Amino acid sequence: MIRPNIRFLSPYSTARDDCQAATPINVYLDANESPYDNGVNRYPDPHQHALKAAVSRLKGIPEECIFAGNGSDEAIDLLFRIYCRPGSDNVVSIAPSYGMYAVSAAINDVELREVCLDPDTFALPTERLMEATDERTKLLFVCSPNNPTGNAFATEQLEQLANRFAGILVVDEAYVDFSPHGSLLPVLHRHPNLVVLQTLSKAWGMAGLRLGLAFAHPEVSAYMARVKYPYNINGPTQQEVIRRLASEPHATHVAEVLAERSRLTRALAASPLVVKVYPSDANFLLVKFRPAEATPAYDRLIAAGIIVRNRSRLPLCADCLRITVGTPRENDKLLAALDAPAS
Ligand SMILES: *Cc1c(COP(=O)(O)O)cnc(C)c1O
Repeated sequence: MIRPNIRFLSPYSTARDDCQAATPINVYLDANESPYDNGVNRYPDPHQHALKAAVSRLKGIPEECIFAGNGSDEAIDLLFRIYCRPGSDNVVSIAPSYGMYAVSAAINDVELREVCLDPDTFALPTERLMEATDERTKLLFVCSPNNPTGNAFATEQLEQLANRFAGILVVDEAYVDFSPHGSLLPVLHRHPNLVVLQTLSKAWGMAGLRLGLAFAHPEVSAYMARVKYPYNINGPTQQEVIRRLASEPHATHVAEVLAERSRLTRALAASPLVVKVYPSDANFLLVKFRPAEATPAYDRLIAAGIIVRNRSRLPLCADCLRITVGTPRENDKLLAALDAPAS
């Protein structure tokens, strides 16, 4: 599965990796850094040991199965570069889904085959996904809960897909903390071809730090570690993430978002402009407006200083806006700007 140039790659190594000193090293004259301590004058740990130890404790996954990237987007791009030969291999994804799969595919000159979800239920089209694959399909992307439809897929269905697909199944769980269906991490050890992506950008409230996680068989995560830039996670981010994983009011915030998600769902569904609010397992709602009403509603929100995502040009999303659940006050403003009865 691995591209030959990657299989035989000798990765960049640092002097600190190469030396196996018995005495503790405390004078660092190997990397041409500044010797004047200002908190950031030293290169950060390229293996992110302390960070991975913290993630390992939190998730119950061995450190050797964890990759930490500069956002999930780095993990997505690395998977293309490790598995897909430009100009000849292909990948398959559900549609509509997260835009970065298509962007990464285009950058890496890899064909993306998009398979539409069931138009009414957004259910997973397992048979059509399998039919879209061939012997050159290296990656299959399934986002669950899916962006922008909001629904999660059942663990059993995703496991069946992992069993049937000969390539790497990438399950993007960016919104898993908001979903009652839970994560695939408990079954990761059963599927050597499964990569689970999570991120600290959503429920954990650390989008500004850029920290994405991939969980995979140790051989897969080792290839990701070899191909990444050596210092992909900067020092302050490593420290901040460790501190915040231990201390953030993560659960309280998730509970409030879930309560607000229900309230917004009811209020928007009662609006005469709205045809349907799709059920959501994430921290956003996909809202279908009456024909030709989505773009005027979008413009009214902009005029009120509120930006949402107009998804009306995506497949299966005609007349749809994607609205992130905000704080109770922000949600009140949204409902007022749409003339929807706040409840
Ligand atoms: C927001 C989002 C991400 C997060 O990407 P980061 O690069 O980690 O911020 C990943 N996948 C999906 C589907 C998302 O919606």
